[in-house]
Amino acid sequence: MTKKHPESRWLLACATLLLACGAVASDKAAVAAHVDDARLLNAAKEPQNWLIYGGGWSEQHYSPLKSIDATNVSRLKPTWSFDFDTYRGQEATPVVVDGVMYVSSAWSKVFALDAKTGKALWSYDPKVPGPAALPLCCDVVNRGVAVYKGKVYVGTIDARLIALDAATGAVVWSVATAPADSTYSITGAPRVARDKVFIGNGGGEFGGRGYVSAYDAASGKLVWRFYVVPGAPHAKADGAASDEILEKLARPTWFGDDWYRYGGGGHTWNALTYDADLQQLYLATGNGFPWNREFRSAGKGDNLFISSIVALDVDTGQYKWHYQETPGDQWDYDAVQNMTLAELDIRGEKRKVLMHAPKNGFFYVLDRRSGEVLSAEPYVTVTWAKKVDLNTGRPEEIAGARYGLAPTLIAPGAGGAHNWHPMAFSPLTGLVYIPATEASMPFRAVANFKFGEQLFTNIGVDFSAYHGNAAHGATTAPPARPVPAAPPQNFVLAWDPVTQKARWRAEGRGGGLLTTAGDLVIQGRTRAGALGELVAFRADTGERLWSYPTPNGITAAPSTYSVDGEQFIAAASGASSTSVSGAPTRMRHLGRVVAFKLDGKATLPAEAPPALPANPPSTVAAAIETAAGQKRYDAYCARCHGFQGASGNVIPDLRRSLLLTNKDGWDEVVLRGALTERGMVSWSKFLSPEDADHIRAYIGEMARALQQQEAR
Ligand code: CA
Repeated sequence: MTKKHPESRWLLACATLLLACGAVASDKAAVAAHVDDARLLNAAKEPQNWLIYGGGWSEQHYSPLKSIDATNVSRLKPTWSFDFDTYRGQEATPVVVDGVMYVSSAWSKVFALDAKTGKALWSYDPKVPGPAALPLCCDVVNRGVAVYKGKVYVGTIDARLIALDAATGAVVWSVATAPADSTYSITGAPRVARDKVFIGNGGGEFGGRGYVSAYDAASGKLVWRFYVVPGAPHAKADGAASDEILEKLARPTWFGDDWYRYGGGGHTWNALTYDADLQQLYLATGNGFPWNREFRSAGKGDNLFISSIVALDVDTGQYKWHYQETPGDQWDYDAVQNMTLAELDIRGEKRKVLMHAPKNGFFYVLDRRSGEVLSAEPYVTVTWAKKVDLNTGRPEEIAGARYGLAPTLIAPGAGGAHNWHPMAFSPLTGLVYIPATEASMPFRAVANFKFGEQLFTNIGVDFSAYHGNAAHGATTAPPARPVPAAPPQNFVLAWDPVTQKARWRAEGRGGGLLTTAGDLVIQGRTRAGALGELVAFRADTGERLWSYPTPNGITAAPSTYSVDGEQFIAAASGASSTSVSGAPTRMRHLGRVVAFKLDGKATLPAEAPPALPANPPSTVAAAIETAAGQKRYDAYCARCHGFQGASGNVIPDLRRSLLLTNKDGWDEVVLRGALTERGMVSWSKFLSPEDADHIRAYIGEMARALQQQEAR
């Protein structure tokens, strides 16, 4: 490790910049951040701004701006780009208020940029400790900030909620939203309204109970908290807004005594939506924990309020209604996807609706006054349920979908028909645009499941069928019987929420969406080799109108705004680890914000250099060693570094690592935590020196296979 880490280089540059432009910048930002409830309510009247994560309070990811439109989008060119200090995943949608862009980056850092030029005004680093990266499924990402009454709010990987002075980036207050050393994390954007900041948490693959908290926006004092699932029976009440309703509605839907020891899940890690019409806050809740209901709730029960939309009184956190999309979820069907509020004509009646396309593959239209399900139809192939019965609101499950020890192919898979990447709704076309996926996955229960200390094997699902690997996390699993899953297909799906029918579809692997009054749908995409592009489609027909190559893949949803009458479209680039697959053949660029306008004059950095060659050792390892190494690797390493050593190019691909042929260096990292600050902690608690050798032997053989493959 002789090469200086780019983060330190960047910090120097940033410090210099702050000295140079601090004073001027502060004045501008001080005015810019005065977003209050009146402005949030009337967001549509100031289309030059992108006031919150989803654009306006109805979170349609829609902008009335139309100076960039279907007729001139071909002139769209980069006008500036701003480099972050990291190669890690970027998922944030920039918030723009009066010419200032507030955007978060990996490790929960926050940047204020001049939205016209990309010049840094200030930056903030919450200094998240490296080990906080461990209880995360999908890298140290952050999806965005909230801006309100002169402050910028961000949640951190180690579950703090922090208020920054929007003028300077100085910390105004900081609270721990979860106990220290717990497995809770925050990657989602906070929401703000009525002098409160709302934040949920992640960690639904690692145990614990999900909850959402409201803090006083000025002081950081806790106002209310709502737990999504009940706590242990006979335990002291939480003293939370959820106490009564959990006893009344939720507890009777849980069985056995395992769930409260494991936590139960229901983490609200992505979307919260504030309904300024009805003064409600909607929670979009996650999967149950463990995934497998057999081990969670004695194989029965709906397990409220997992995989649900829950409406709360915004001021008190008191329960108003809920709708559970996947009762007794068994397939990691998080219902955390973004919720879109609108008014639609349904069967001749104007209804205030909430639209939702969760992982489970059904598109839901709910009445947001009552939670009544108005319609629900599959928007991709669905094999776990036949349909949703509108009389009972319940899905009609297909026999056998609740898998046992035999691998059972289910669609959608655990990645979902739609993940966190925001869908968008255009009131002009009346269409919802979903970044959708057709995928299936063989589910199989872990044999003799025993809750242990492992991080990712406690979900009660055996992935060996999925990856074709030897069983892990199981003591006496039957031999793996791999069921081939069809390769996933990704596409933008234009969906009519009234008729519940597809209007058009555009193939390609992409991220969150933006739609505009210029008849455009904009999506960042990931191309082979981890490169990216920004693409524009016609909103009414799906015709592909324009694209521009970007150095990194894009998964974050873009936003649009205008400064001095000129419209910009901006996106954070740097696809997150779960969005890139295969064996990227190039190194990675730093994450960055890229801003486009008509006839922009900026150039983006060239393609990154080729990836390092595969680095197998000179002698072939014994099969018994590689087999032992694979077992350990699958259980502890694959979650971040990728199965068979094939990484998504965010976390290093170990097959190309120089340490593969350097035992001391390898042990320094694996057993003694030399890279702890980047999240690669010492694994000596779980792995013996012999295990570390075996893993190195296994990856060495994976490297040999890669070398042969690349030679061909
Ligand atoms: Ca999940």
